[in-house]
Amino acid sequence: MKAKIHPKYYIAKVTCACGNTWYVGSTQKEIHVEICSACHPFYTGKQKLLDTAGRVEKFKKKYGIKNSTREAIKKGKK
Ligand SMILES: [Zn+2]
Repeated sequence: MKAKIHPKYYIAKVTCACGNTWYVGSTQKEIHVEICSACHPFYTGKQKLLDTAGRVEKFKKKYGIKNSTREAIKKGKK
């Protein structure tokens, strides 16, 4: 390790918005997070990912529109 180019390394206390705390090596003394493995829906199993389906639908719709627009341009050129 080169001297003077590395920041100070602390054992930081991480505090989550749900109240969960744990320690991790970091260059910061304290870390505040909004979500952690104790309260994230992926780990808790609580459904909060339902709107993801809506986003996929939205994307598909957008993709379809884009395709038809591209075809419309091709038809217009010929
Ligand atoms: Zn949490």
